[in-house]
Amino acid sequence: MTRGDKRLDTLIQSVHRAMDAHELRAFYQPKFDALTGRLVGSEALVRWLRPDGSLVMPLDFLPQLETGKDILELDYYILRLVCEFLQRQMKEENFPQLPVAVNFSRLHVYEANCLRAVEQIVDGYGVPRHLIEVEITESAFAQEPEKTAEWINKMRNAGFRVAIDDFGSGLSSLSFVKDIAADVLKLDKSLISRNCEDEKERIVLESIFNFAHRLSLTTVAEGVESQEQLSFLRMCGCKVIQGYLTAKPMPEDQYIQLCREQSKQGQTEDVLLTQPATSATQLLLEAVFARYPLVIFANLTRNSFYLMAYENFTRHSVCPSAGQFSELIAHGTASMHPEDQELFRSTFNADSLIAAHDRGEQSVTLVTRQMGDDGVYRRVETADYFVKSSSVDDILLIALCHNLD
Ligand code: C2E
Ligand code: MG
Ligand code: MG
Repeated sequence: MTRGDKRLDTLIQSVHRAMDAHELRAFYQPKFDALTGRLVGSEALVRWLRPDGSLVMPLDFLPQLETGKDILELDYYILRLVCEFLQRQMKEENFPQLPVAVNFSRLHVYEANCLRAVEQIVDGYGVPRHLIEVEITESAFAQEPEKTAEWINKMRNAGFRVAIDDFGSGLSSLSFVKDIAADVLKLDKSLISRNCEDEKERIVLESIFNFAHRLSLTTVAEGVESQEQLSFLRMCGCKVIQGYLTAKPMPEDQYIQLCREQSKQGQTEDVLLTQPATSATQLLLEAVFARYPLVIFANLTRNSFYLMAYENFTRHSVCPSAGQFSELIAHGTASMHPEDQELFRSTFNADSLIAAHDRGEQSVTLVTRQMGDDGVYRRVETADYFVKSSSVDDILLIALCHNLD
């Protein structure tokens, strides 16, 4: 259909009339934490509720609005409804303040004053900006990559959250994501339904999650319909799920009810039973780092090391994060109390450690006095544990260090 087409013009006029008559509503589809099942927010989706009670779905009229600028008006209309809703709920005591995602057509990217319009609406209702997440579809990048990236930057710098919607629905490659400073990556439902069945495609999906998490993007899986999909998404470390399995888009009053119930219930699932191995390892590491602020991996055979954590220890910035093990020991020795230096050096040089390993010792532990940033000596315990890698014969160790004073 093109502009000037009679049927198209009539439809567009009816949508404008529907806006004036408040027949266009925002439905809310809840989003949940993939591990705990906790409600974390929602997405506002437009619905046209006709006076005869019938419901018209967005895909039956949005593509037509996108042939011109009418879609821009509709998006601002929905944003206003969302802000009215949030403003009302802010007044209710103990009502959870959860973000709402609002869809923005890619045509906003070409608009001169989009940011100002959004700011005026959101600020006008007194809604904190971080509660509004603007969703812009991946296809915007295919057409106008630079302009879209710039649009996102402006939105984020102004304090709004930004999500890339429908990721994986088009032909765009992963690499474009690295250049975009978004907060959230929403994986399209076509990707989820395809990939959870086929082994090779599951591998692709795992890599997408990995990649997104390394870029510090929050991942949202759209269109989650089955328990099998959810289990697989959890294994991939997916953060948030949205789909019919957990909740369909619902009218505002039902969503309010859900928010109230969830705030009373608190957490719904035991994270220990649902977490993937990577998240369990992360928890374990937190406990290790709480006890040992300095953790060093060393390869004695290759005279190399790297630091895994270096916080709250006697010194903060002077320690290199990777390099030659012999240099690390020389560096450590220099910070020891003069009376402890020889003992430290002779215990922890690579030859002595390799000899201890060959004698069958499992660990080597020593307490020495080390000078901190403040010039004060404190007793430090260094415990080196020999570890075995399944892939190499090198002699490896993990050194756990902590202050005793
Ligand atoms: P979207 O932004 O990707 O929204 C997700 C769509 O997936 C919604 O369709 C939702 O109802 C549907 N969905 C959610 N969970 C499932 C599931 O488990 N299975 C299946 N099969 N579908 C699921 P809906 O509401 O029909 O909206 C379609 C599209 O229309 C949206 O896709 C969005 O691109 C657009 N849209 C909706 N509201 C607005 C709006 O206010 N402004 C703009 N510009 N676009 C909007
Ligand atoms: Mg969306
Ligand atoms: Mg989507």
